Amino acid sequence: MGVPFVDLKAQYHSIKAEIDAALIATMESCAFTLGPEVAALEKDFAPYAGATYAAGVNNGTNALYLPLLAAGIGPGDEVITVPFTFIASASAIHYTGATPVFVDIDPVTFTMDPAQIEAAITPRTKAIVPVHLYGQAADMAALRAVADRHHLAIVEDCCQAHLATERGVPVGTIGVGGAFSFYPTKNLAALGDGGAVITNDAAIAERVRRLRNGGQTERYRHVDDGVNSRLDEIQAAVLRERLPLLPYWTSMRRALAARYRAMLPAAVRAIAERDRGHVHHLFPIRSPRRDALRDHLATEGIDALIHYPYPLSAQPAFARFHPAECPVAACACSELLSLPLHPRLTERQQDRVVAAVASFERGHVQA
Ligand SMILES: *Cc1c(COP(=O)(O)O)cnc(C)c1O
Repeated sequence: MGVPFVDLKAQYHSIKAEIDAALIATMESCAFTLGPEVAALEKDFAPYAGATYAAGVNNGTNALYLPLLAAGIGPGDEVITVPFTFIASASAIHYTGATPVFVDIDPVTFTMDPAQIEAAITPRTKAIVPVHLYGQAADMAALRAVADRHHLAIVEDCCQAHLATERGVPVGTIGVGGAFSFYPTKNLAALGDGGAVITNDAAIAERVRRLRNGGQTERYRHVDDGVNSRLDEIQAAVLRERLPLLPYWTSMRRALAARYRAMLPAAVRAIAERDRGHVHHLFPIRSPRRDALRDHLATEGIDALIHYPYPLSAQPAFARFHPAECPVAACACSELLSLPLHPRLTERQQDRVVAAVASFERGHVQA
């Protein structure tokens, strides 16, 4: 009777026969990495994402790292990103040898605050990595204007934002390229790790394809100092079966998010939805009593998760970069709680979540 945060078993069973057939066909083909399924996925995924090219890679972290490398980012450079995100947004920057520099987020949208960027720019700044957090695009027009003024490259972290748009513009297309993750809990999921880079730039696409495979142009001839970031055929085959369902799954997420907004008690603040292109990877609400609310939901069997408990600027792993304090991100880390939201969440389950949140709020008002 509990409400799990995600339901991966239901996701598998929703098109089990197709997934099983794709797995068996791949095993029979004995092509295991960067084969015909990966090439076909790239052709299929690019138009869904609204880009000319897609390149399959082995996870979302490398989907960020490789376009940064392809754009020439390296040691001595600084790259601006946000502290309120998954660790990979910043790890991908330091993989290149560059220094991640954190700017605080906007208190309403929880994405990169364009007004904070200029103060963080130095002569070494080469790029910005905005994150389309929770499935909602950052303010792309404003970010683009700042980046253009200072000749900065933009590589977008779209790992939570498959099919998201802002004012009709697809995420991942305003700069060098966009990074997607196909980790099992993402909006489009593999049976393990997977990722893709999208770009409208043929040279970047070619360079990323080379870099992901040891920098090789022809067998054993290595033009770049690349890495192993190959995507498996099995993952590509599964992703190709699921991709046509992604628009439907996205519409389910949007409908459930709208239902949460309509039903949750007024005291509970959901994050402002700035654009209808939001794809609701997560549904966080804001509460000054977040930890108590989470405990209350747990006693009702409802799984709610914290994204994220610590700002990256306060992570020991990044202390050596001497990051600036980011008070808005720190506040978000103490107040936000993600409620269950996925395409197979039933209205009954959602009603239980809403009732549990409401009973917590009533209890608090009386106390
Ligand atoms: C999932 C995620 C990533 C990285 O993806 P992996 O596939 O786990 O490497 C990067 N950024 C954000 C915001 C993510 O949510």
